[in-house]
Order: sequence, then structure tokens, then C-alpha cells
Amino acid sequence: MKIANRAGRLVLIVDDLAVDVERESGSTFSSDPQAVYEQWDHFVTWAATVRDDNGESFDLDELDAPVPRPGQVFAIGVNYVEHAAEAGYPSDSMPVTFTKFPSCLTGPAATVDLPSEFVDWEVELVIAIGRRAVKVQREDAWDHVAGLTIGQDLSERHVQNEGNRPQFSLGKSFTGFGPTGPWLVSTDEFEHPDDLEIGCSLGTVSDGGEQLQLSRTSKMIYDIPELIARLSNICTLSPGDIIFTGTPAGVGNARTPKRFLGESDVLVSTIEGIGSITTRFRAPAA
Ligand code: ZN
Repeated sequence: MKIANRAGRLVLIVDDLAVDVERESGSTFSSDPQAVYEQWDHFVTWAATVRDDNGESFDLDELDAPVPRPGQVFAIGVNYVEHAAEAGYPSDSMPVTFTKFPSCLTGPAATVDLPSEFVDWEVELVIAIGRRAVKVQREDAWDHVAGLTIGQDLSERHVQNEGNRPQFSLGKSFTGFGPTGPWLVSTDEFEHPDDLEIGCSLGTVSDGGEQLQLSRTSKMIYDIPELIARLSNICTLSPGDIIFTGTPAGVGNARTPKRFLGESDVLVSTIEGIGSITTRFRAPAA
């Protein structure tokens, strides 16, 4: 099952058509894309009965963030071995955890204002919580996940590393720094949800673009069950919370020479079994 946020209304994607959930369900479910996670099990049962008769064709640029107002956004740093090496971080005994403040979230076809010339890309698998999670064991962790989507953890590297005690959260929370989408795909759609190809490119590689990152989510240091177990041992995870699960190697800040996003770049982020999101940029004001 795929759900999306079409111009602020929750839709179910059936056979590539968008079915409006509030109308199709006779208002059993709200049109608010954020509200569905509170009724996730009920919704999944209903969604399985829906056909595409009332579906409408749509363009990707009509879609907004599939989880638009999460109560909590967790983000994990240094969660792939090769990225830890390129960033120069030693492996750690706890996942490096920060937040992207929810006001940074945007959709799958966003144009983002660059606040400086030091904005970097980080493609990430993003998970949405579908059931309240408190001290969850590894083996029960996937039962608490509603689905998966694509995220870009855009990062302003100077702000991220400024000061004596670098604090990741602000440098990763400029307006528009959290492109997500294009939709949320429920976990049952994946044969191996722990092993998905993940990557991003400038432009589409098939059109001569350049691959920037390419890995598999099975290379996470702390995999999804471990992240949910560890985070839920400390925080209560609620339906509609999201977790950015870390980025593989290939970020611009670790290149020689360093490379950052510019006005003409078209950043395409792709995860197997989900699809792609495309992010464009506007140059910093002179
Ligand atoms: Zn990241």
C-alpha cells in the first residue's frame, strides 16, 4: 500500500491513481495526512478493500511530505561504515542522534533556497512509526513501523560544525532541508525491508547525470530494529513520528575537493521499492 499527501489531502495510490481517502471512506478517515498514523491498523484493513474506480491521475509535483507534521523527527548520524570512515568519525556505542526540526520538512518535488554555498546532500531511508513504541525489543521492532519513504537530510556544513561543541540539528533544519516522499510505502510491500538499494545523483544517471551515493540499507551499522529498540528504550515513539536512518558514503563534504549544491543542480534521490524524489535549488540571495 502507498499513501501520499496530495495538496494537503491524504490519498491512497492504487494502480498509479490517487484515491481521496476522506471522500472514499465517507469521512471515516480524515483528509489530514498526519492523522492516519493514529488509526494505522484500522486504516490498513480498510485500504485493502479500496479499488481505483474513483482514482485520479496526478503529477509528482502535486505531492507534499507524506508525513507532514510528525511529533518527533529523529535523525541518525554516522550509520554506514563507509560514511563513518569518510567523515572521520570513529564508530560509537550509541547511534549518533539529533533532530531535524519538523519545520524543515518538504515534499518530493521541492525547490529549496540555499542559505549558503556549503549545503550538502545525504540520501536516507526514512521510517514512519505506526504504533506506540516503548522499550520495544529488536524482534518486535518492525511491527511498530507503518512504512518507508525517501528522505534527503540536507545539511549546511558550516553551521553543523560551528563552535566548540558541534550541534547537528540547526545546520540540518533550514527551511526546506527535509525533502521526503514521494509517498509512504507500507512495510508489507517489501520482501527484504532491511536490504534496499539507496542512492542519489545529480540529474538522472540515465540522462548523463552523476551518481553521488550508492549503497544498500543492509550496510547500516545500527539497523532499523536496533534503532527502534534503542530509541524506544529512552523516548516514547508515537504514531506519525519519523526517523531519518543515516546516509551512506559519498557526501560532498568528504570529497576532494569538497563539493556542495548549487543553483543549477537537480538532486535525484532513489530507494528500491519506493521510487525517487527530485530536489531543485535556488541560489543564496546576493
Ligand atoms: Zn544524515
